[in-house]
Amino acid sequence: MKKKNRSVPPLEEEGGEALSFEELALLRKEGAQHREEEAPAPYDTSDRAHLRRYMKRNPLLAGAVIVILTALVALLIFGVVMLINYLVNRPNTADFTFTLGEEKPYTVPYEDSVRDGVLYVDLRSLASFSDLTVSGSSARMQFTAHGNTYLRFEQKSEVAVINGDRVEMRVKEYRGEKTVPAKAYLTDTTCWVPYEFLVQTISEGLLFRLDSEKNTITVKRVYNVYNGDLENKEAADILFSSSSLTPLPSLTEQPEYEYSYAIDVSAYLDSITSEYLLLANKQNPLGATFSPTVVDLTCATDGERQRLQVDAANALSAMMLEMKQAGVDDIYVTSSYRSYSYQENLYNKYVSDHMTQDGMSREEAEAAASAYSARPGESEHQTGLCLDFTTDSIGGAVAEVFEDTEAFEWLSQNAYKFGFILRYPKDKVAITQYDYEPWHYRFVGREAATEIYFGSLCLEEYLSGTT
Ligand SMILES: [Zn+2]
Repeated sequence: MKKKNRSVPPLEEEGGEALSFEELALLRKEGAQHREEEAPAPYDTSDRAHLRRYMKRNPLLAGAVIVILTALVALLIFGVVMLINYLVNRPNTADFTFTLGEEKPYTVPYEDSVRDGVLYVDLRSLASFSDLTVSGSSARMQFTAHGNTYLRFEQKSEVAVINGDRVEMRVKEYRGEKTVPAKAYLTDTTCWVPYEFLVQTISEGLLFRLDSEKNTITVKRVYNVYNGDLENKEAADILFSSSSLTPLPSLTEQPEYEYSYAIDVSAYLDSITSEYLLLANKQNPLGATFSPTVVDLTCATDGERQRLQVDAANALSAMMLEMKQAGVDDIYVTSSYRSYSYQENLYNKYVSDHMTQDGMSREEAEAAASAYSARPGESEHQTGLCLDFTTDSIGGAVAEVFEDTEAFEWLSQNAYKFGFILRYPKDKVAITQYDYEPWHYRFVGREAATEIYFGSLCLEEYLSGTT
């Protein structure tokens, strides 16, 4: 404060006398002038100045504010970068485009195709393109290929059945790396199954190509070309296989029902427990090309050559031995596998007989023949899984009188244990659309036969799950 020193002289220099009032007043005035000169610039009351002053007093807070502001700006920049990145690399949620061979492409909504993060396809919509026979409905649905391998799915089940083997459907997420369990989703007209699982189980006959950026799926059939003659190519049969998957323990190993046999069935058990749920009826014709591999029957027949698929033939052998053991020994097989052409000849013969003998028009004759004979392609006998019985006691008749035989009584109580069902029961005519046929038995496998038998069902009901 050197200004003060200069303007206020020590009192002693004036001779120690007290200052007069005038002198004091002057001094005060000088002092006031000095204070005026010293006073800071007019007090700044703007917000900024307040803030600046406040910051000066609280340096810690000021630091914190700067750090927070910097962080916010950084976050904003990061957000913008991420948004741009997302927009550029956004997963394509456009609808899927399907192309089946040479057919016109069609689209499937994204929401239908990607469920629970997994890519799905509707196998039902591939069935006719792939020549797969579809049986069942929304509860369970089965797809049978010409070679008789099959895939079966149940509503919202993570377990599928491939040729009798139960396998868990575990697949990678769509555009992801995580492997997750996946369910099948069924309606009466669709069967949504995990794409990756399907591709894994079709070992022959179909080629799949997926473009996960464009969401397109192309399916092509494989063709057999003979002797390099490209004009004469033939679509190869589709083969379902569980070889790349680990089967779950078989359900038939833990039966809900006890099975007891008089004979030793161990040699036949593999056949008895194998499953054959192919549905062939008026709504589900097999078509002219369905021809299963069949073997000659070694059990009692009417002397004609009788054939069935090998598991059905083995199960039948066991059943005939068991019947003999029970004292039923006059039963024999009078009809079994019939090829398409056999049925065609048979049907045509009935029709021409009606035309020539009864003077019917072709239309009338066909209607008359259809009442008792299946049209070609519609006969269950073409599956190689069913047969007609008769006995000596009724003179080899294929008629309702079979119902009164000892053999029929035994079959009614025991056929299910060998995997056979009464195919056209008396109380199911409205569903099967066939008259009651006590002589006609169908092999489906023991588990299904047991459920059908104890559930008082027919095959159509069992496969549609309407129990
Ligand atoms: Zn029959």
